[in-house]
Amino acid sequence: MKIETQVLHEGYSPKNGEPRVMPIYQSTTYVYNSTDAVADVFDDPTLGMIYSRFENPTTDAVEKKIAALEGGAAAMCTSSGQAASMLSILNICDAGDHFISSSSIYGGTVNLFAFTFKKMGIECTFVDVDASEDEIRAAIRPNTKCVFGETIANPALTVLDIEKWAKVAHEAGIPLIVDNTFATPILCRPIEWGADIVVHSTSKYMDGHAVQVGGVIVDSGKFDWKASGKFPGLTEPDESYHGIVYTEKYPAAPYITKARMQLMRDFGCYPAANSSFLLNLGLETLAVRMPKYCENAMKVAKYIESTGKVESIKYAGLESDPHYELAKKYLPDGVCGVISFSVKGGRETAVKFMDALKLASNEVHVADIRTCVLNPASATHRQLTEEQLVAAGIDPGMIRFSVGLENVDDIIDDLKQAFEVI
Ligand code: PLP
Repeated sequence: MKIETQVLHEGYSPKNGEPRVMPIYQSTTYVYNSTDAVADVFDDPTLGMIYSRFENPTTDAVEKKIAALEGGAAAMCTSSGQAASMLSILNICDAGDHFISSSSIYGGTVNLFAFTFKKMGIECTFVDVDASEDEIRAAIRPNTKCVFGETIANPALTVLDIEKWAKVAHEAGIPLIVDNTFATPILCRPIEWGADIVVHSTSKYMDGHAVQVGGVIVDSGKFDWKASGKFPGLTEPDESYHGIVYTEKYPAAPYITKARMQLMRDFGCYPAANSSFLLNLGLETLAVRMPKYCENAMKVAKYIESTGKVESIKYAGLESDPHYELAKKYLPDGVCGVISFSVKGGRETAVKFMDALKLASNEVHVADIRTCVLNPASATHRQLTEEQLVAAGIDPGMIRFSVGLENVDDIIDDLKQAFEVI
């Protein structure tokens, strides 16, 4: 199936007389007809559902759909994008381990990597998104367990050279994890370029309507954990799960099976069935919405650039953008609906400009169906140091403008009247 068909039909195929739409299985638990039958699913949880702290039929259908969209072997939903990023690392990094991340990533992920993981004994080295192969290689240590980056970074809007980062990671026998939130599988499928694991905040374009907070981790099923020899958690018996060796018992997707049976079992950050139902509704129109966001954003970006009132603009669809060539390679159908720009006059003028907007709402959200705007330095990236802000490509006056699906003339008219105010 083509992706426009997959968003509608993957994950759930009703049989004779069953509901057309995947129902909301709002049940914490599942019934078995004997004690032995319960024991059997504990021995092999892939045989049936056990408990909704880590699996649920409604969420399972969404997981199968997202795995198919990304071209992965299996997926696991989480209660937020943050939980997805956290588990994606904790699944392969223990205390004493190290990993590498592009410095051009979402501010909440910087906090998680630089501070919270550090307290847990896991160290992260941030490397410039445009670093050369040698520069990335130089950051790799004997205890480095993975490399992380965002396809299109929030809010710096840089484009990750996925093939380059995957090459360096694979040479070192470690996987590449890509946060594909802003691109979605409609615009880019990182696994096709060499990524091993894909994560998303599904709260953004995948949902699209600002009705659920969620995340997902997709396992490509392609990384050879055994050949690497660096991941005993996957290739040696798991004492917490009666000695299962994930690569042997679940060779198709050992990484995601471990994440569910071990980490989700213990942390329980699984979405409610109702949230998965809402996420699925968003996914059903993703292939129609993404091209329209891109079309609207391209017109808005060209308009903003033409005003002469901005100091800088970041949108990789513009020929003037330093990531234009990478965008042509990885995002040939468009570079999402988010634009970052800095007005002349710094933060004070930016605040004046943003407060003058009438249609675009000032909110802590992005990638919504409605146009919204945010000053990252005052909000999502407020906890970052000056140094981290620079590394993440953010200046204090930067405005993150998330173009929605309104008529683009209305969006531009709103911007016009706000530019007049400053
Ligand atoms: N990854 C990216 C690229 C994001 O933009 C965000 C949130 O803005 C997250 C992860 C975290 O997702 P959530 O807010 O769903 O926890």
